[in-house]
Amino acid sequence: MTSVVYERVALIGLGLIASSMFWAMKRSGLAGEVTGFARSVETRDTARRIGLCDRVSDTVVEAVQDADLVVLCVPVGVMGQVAAEIAPHLKPGATVSDVGSVKAGVIEAVQPHLPAGVHFVPAHPIAGTEHSGPESGFAELYDNRWCLLVPVEGTDPAATERLRALWEGMGANVDEMEADHHDLVLAVTSHAPHLIAYTMVGVADDLRRVTDSEVIKYSAAGFRDFTRIAASDPTMWRDVFLTNKEATLEILGRFTEELFALQRAIRTGDGEHLHDYFTRTRAIRRGIIEAGQDTAAPNFGREKS
Ligand code: NAP
Repeated sequence: MTSVVYERVALIGLGLIASSMFWAMKRSGLAGEVTGFARSVETRDTARRIGLCDRVSDTVVEAVQDADLVVLCVPVGVMGQVAAEIAPHLKPGATVSDVGSVKAGVIEAVQPHLPAGVHFVPAHPIAGTEHSGPESGFAELYDNRWCLLVPVEGTDPAATERLRALWEGMGANVDEMEADHHDLVLAVTSHAPHLIAYTMVGVADDLRRVTDSEVIKYSAAGFRDFTRIAASDPTMWRDVFLTNKEATLEILGRFTEELFALQRAIRTGDGEHLHDYFTRTRAIRRGIIEAGQDTAAPNFGREKS
């Protein structure tokens, strides 16, 4: 049995993550009233048309007034700007959270704007698809996915616990993590892999000019999966790399070293090195499936992951 966790929730930004939150909150009756705001008239009109949010405000200031929970669901590069705009209008005792894919940079950008008496509990749901916009969300997105909470120093533990209850009510498993550690872990598991996918698709695109449409026509599962990742929102990912610079560069440095080692093994015919390496990586895939983070389906089972 779930019950209302927050009487009034404001979602700022109405894309994949916010719309999925709305449908998930509705599914389980976790919020009394949800107000939404997005930057463009077009997105606000779409939200009204599809019933996304109980009320859609034309200004961000109106959206956050009286809200018990305000969730910033905008690209990480504009979190600080939005926080500055809403700060004077927040209700005392309200909680501000976000869903940004990077945590240290967002905390640095948002926290200085928030007035005393407002709780700040940053969060990151590790769930998404390559689709974006107000029509891309669905209630099940967070089911059995992780949501990491990154409370800042001095945050009232009761505010963190309440946000945890919301995410658990939306189907997620919740853990707490420190910001820098979060950013390093995500650089390994998400940010660097996205950059690699973008690069691989770029390389294939260059090749396509040489081989006409063969790259697309005969695209095998490996490449197709790269194209799915590389179809992710350009603004979101530009901001992720610019905001999680240090950790991403650290991981890319290590990646390049490993790539050179594999390149050398191929050149020198060192099959043992290649076989050992691929055996090790295969075991990681098994671990991910066993942890319930993906399925063993040959199509990668990734429609909703
Ligand atoms: P999205 O579908 O592209 O939606 C972004 C929303 O933010 C849009 O409604 C957009 O409004 C709004 N927006 C952009 N700039 C704004 C501004 N200056 N002021 C007000 N609203 C603004 O993005 P998303 O995938 O939901 O991502 C949102 C956040 O979640 C990002 O911080 C991202 O890092 C994080 N995240 C994403 C994923 C994922 O896989 N997609 C997973 C976890 C976390 P308009 O439509 O009017 O332009």
